[in-house]
Amino acid sequence: MRILITGGAGFLGSHLSKRLLHEGHEVICMDNFFTGRKRNILPLLENPAFELMRHDVIDPFKIECDQIYNLACPASPVHYQYNAIKTIKTSVMGAINCLGLAKRVGARVFQASTSEVYGDPSVHPQPEAYWGNVNPIGIRSCYDEGKRCAETLFMDYHRQNGVDVRIVRIFNTYGPNMCPDDGRVVSNFIVQALQGRDITVYGEGQQTRSFCYCDDLIEGFVRLMDQSETVGPMNIGNPGEFTILELAEKVIQMTGSSSKIIHEALPADDPKQRQPDITQAREVLGWEPQYSLDEGLQPTIAYFDQLLSEGS
Ligand code: NAD
Ligand code: UDP
Repeated sequence: MRILITGGAGFLGSHLSKRLLHEGHEVICMDNFFTGRKRNILPLLENPAFELMRHDVIDPFKIECDQIYNLACPASPVHYQYNAIKTIKTSVMGAINCLGLAKRVGARVFQASTSEVYGDPSVHPQPEAYWGNVNPIGIRSCYDEGKRCAETLFMDYHRQNGVDVRIVRIFNTYGPNMCPDDGRVVSNFIVQALQGRDITVYGEGQQTRSFCYCDDLIEGFVRLMDQSETVGPMNIGNPGEFTILELAEKVIQMTGSSSKIIHEALPADDPKQRQPDITQAREVLGWEPQYSLDEGLQPTIAYFDQLLSEGS
């Protein structure tokens, strides 16, 4: 198949590109390089089945393809808050452009949604049937509401125009190819630990997240995309739940760092807890995460170590 990946030069997009090329598909990688990097896709550029296209997903595009994975959107709070209006435009107009193209060429189209659609959840763990608790006017809203609106568009194109859609709700995912300065907790803590700088825990560090290794997530993506039983939305994530303080201690221990933990102000609207209910993924896809947090952190630490030694 010929497969378009928007946001293909980012953290997850680069892993997905590699996986789909490995399966023998042609991959068209579209990216505006806001948070994506050439380094992530450098090993793929020599492959004749890989094509790179610098383009902004908010501007319309016409491409003959069989499948579309829509991943284009900054994912880290620091990056998505940098230009909030651009973030919501990326989610909403990017979804409309991908859906319009899918409708025209008859492609199956996949939306990278997020656990952020649950906001600061009052149901724990979060099943797909939970509608969420999202502040519509806060500093995280450009991302949360943009992704919620994209889900609405996907379901409306599906119901109204019969577009073949898939929606995945991704819970915090980490691994090699994350940006070292992207501000997310796993990359921040590992880089701080490797550089012997203070580890910045926001608030008391009692808020929780459930961390999924990238290879597990990509396996879930492909299984959801390549089956015809359900369109989603479907949670994909690792139910192993940790406090942020536990993560900081684990990173210090695994890197053998002399870094100290310091506490900084908790950002507004920071969700207090998050854990996926993955019953649907288990039953429909037979999917389970394979990597424990320790197993996933090892290659991630090795990647950042290498990156820092290159000075990039
Ligand atoms: P990332 O920032 O590494 O990747 C996003 C990619 O999209 C980058 O390459 C960026 O340059 C590109 N992009 C951004 N705006 C664009 C635009 N207007 N036009 C074209 N390209 C654009 O982040 P990621 O972690 O790889 O996230 C990929 C997708 O998965 C995002 O849609 C994100 O919302 C979603 N997601 C990720 C996580 C996670 O934990 N990693 C969690 C929930 C959802
Ligand atoms: N966080 C932290 N220190 C950091 C970066 C993040 O304590 O240097 C916290 C943040 O406040 C949040 C959690 O870690 O409670 C996860 O943050 P991240 O930005 O990775 O993802 P999200 O909040 O979108 O789940």
